[in-house]
Amino acid sequence: MKKQTKAIRTQTEKSQYREHSTPLYLTSSFTFDSAEQGRALFAEEEEGNIYSRFSNPNVTEFVEKVCMLENAEDGIATATGMAAVFASMGALLKSGDHIVSCRALFGSAHQIISQILPKWGITHTYVDADATEAEWEAAIQPNTGAPAAAGAPAARMVYLETPSNPGLELVDLEMLARLKQKYGFILSVDNCFATPILQTPIDLGADLSIHSATKYMDGQGRVLGGIIVGRADLMAQIRFFARHTGPSLSPFNAWVLSKSLETLDLRMERHCRNALQLAEALEQHPDVKAVHYPFLPSHPQYELAKRQMLAGGAIVTFEVEGGFERVKELYNNLSIASLSSNLGDTRTIVTNPFTTTHSKLKPDEKESLGITEGLIRVSVGLEDIDDLIEDFTQAIAKSAEVLQTTER
Ligand SMILES: *Cc1c(COP(=O)(O)O)cnc(C)c1O
Repeated sequence: MKKQTKAIRTQTEKSQYREHSTPLYLTSSFTFDSAEQGRALFAEEEEGNIYSRFSNPNVTEFVEKVCMLENAEDGIATATGMAAVFASMGALLKSGDHIVSCRALFGSAHQIISQILPKWGITHTYVDADATEAEWEAAIQPNTGAPAAAGAPAARMVYLETPSNPGLELVDLEMLARLKQKYGFILSVDNCFATPILQTPIDLGADLSIHSATKYMDGQGRVLGGIIVGRADLMAQIRFFARHTGPSLSPFNAWVLSKSLETLDLRMERHCRNALQLAEALEQHPDVKAVHYPFLPSHPQYELAKRQMLAGGAIVTFEVEGGFERVKELYNNLSIASLSSNLGDTRTIVTNPFTTTHSKLKPDEKESLGITEGLIRVSVGLEDIDDLIEDFTQAIAKSAEVLQTTER
């Protein structure tokens, strides 16, 4: 069976009521049939649920489906995407370790790496997403995996997002898998923007694939959730960490997310088709300075995108002249898109990263990531594409009046 079929048909065992849809197991704990069973469960001689901080049927169902879609050995679900990112690092890194990461990161991932991990003596080096193999290699310490030699921290982990937010830059996963062969670090990929439908990092050599399930996995802007899937030996360490620190996903959110996975494939197909058509239309618009989308031939990494991803994803960014004043006017003229900082919804959302999600970055950081005042990130939804194109086209044109007023 194809993995999509398996992901749809995977389900918690039917109860005596013969339900078709998985029931919600809203319970904090589970009972033991006997004192002996309690002992055996705690001794890990018998598999089963004990307490929902450790496992819960709804959470297990969600994890099994994502493992299938990602071709992963094992997985753990968390309350949010950030809890997944932090649990993977907290469980696998120790004082003295060094992490190499792409510079273009989700804001909170940047804060974990640059503000929180240093408290425990974990250092980092940032590399540009489009850096060459030699530049990535230069950031990796030669004693990786081995005890750190004096003064030289071991790069225990390479962490990255591809495509990145909001730059939509790609990192070549096969190239990093080659470097991994040489240096033995853990290759961990935030696969949130691509989803397992468009890209399976583990097949390309990654050890871990991490998601904010809040985005496309839910896909309808309802619940928060996160997941880490990957190599069984690493997941065992992350499971120990999660079991005792408690970033567990709630059964209700797991139930919502598991149901949503049944339509992920279908939704991504339409999301990507809409995104490509909107990107093409924006590229034709005389008032648009630049459009960024991995599956546009004008994208500097178009060839890599075609090799690494099945489609370009559902995030398109474009730039307009006239700074924040222009953005305000453009927003005022949009009648469909929602103004929000979220993404990955059935409803189209516009975000101005300069003044919201990435406002805390220093001016030079913004510049190096291409985050200009006039940059607009569009999380392309599932509305009719003709309506979306018409709405953006007229709003961009009308907002150009701001330019004339300021010139006068
Ligand atoms: C949203 C997001 C996260 C964080 O996920 P939460 O569920 O909000 O904690 C991490 N990485 C990427 C790429 C995201 O878009």
